Amino acid sequence: MVALTFDDGPHEIYTAEILDILEENHAVATFFELGSNISKCPEQLARAASMGCELGSHSYSHGNLATMDLEDILADLEAADREFVHATGTSPSLLRPPGGQYNQQLLRESGKTIVTWTIDTRDWESRDAQTIVEYIKSLDTLDGQIVLMHSIYGSSVEATRELVPWLQEQGYQLVTVSELLTNYYKK
Ligand SMILES: [Zn+2]
Repeated sequence: MVALTFDDGPHEIYTAEILDILEENHAVATFFELGSNISKCPEQLARAASMGCELGSHSYSHGNLATMDLEDILADLEAADREFVHATGTSPSLLRPPGGQYNQQLLRESGKTIVTWTIDTRDWESRDAQTIVEYIKSLDTLDGQIVLMHSIYGSSVEATRELVPWLQEQGYQLVTVSELLTNYYKK
């Protein structure tokens, strides 16, 4: 099992293209959306949810949740949740803190399951589909991994277009993060 994850959306064009790719391949992924982006294209969230994809919070304003005051963090997360509820009717149980930065306070107080990643494609750095694809293909095993990408770059979409069918050909089942935690890690 592999969980592909996409941060920083929703993006009007790229999120739609990623969803098209997943749909064509009967696959799912997890989208950690920024609250501040949701009102630009809430229909992407509704579509993702209807396809069996998972939506997680990536906060509202992409601040550093390890250094912000608790009061500000909770207000930020609530603002994000309101956007999710508006778009889909529910608020997410998962939170991926921006930059993967969190502390014990966030673990205790956020009311959400904190998720980071186990494989970082550094897609934001290369902005190159082949670099991303070659890196993933070079890894010994992807079983049980949570792969970090972003839904705001065309290069990440092109990498996804190649990686989804390739992963399936290798025998991997693409699952959401919650499915991975439940079925692979038995959490
Ligand atoms: Zn981010």
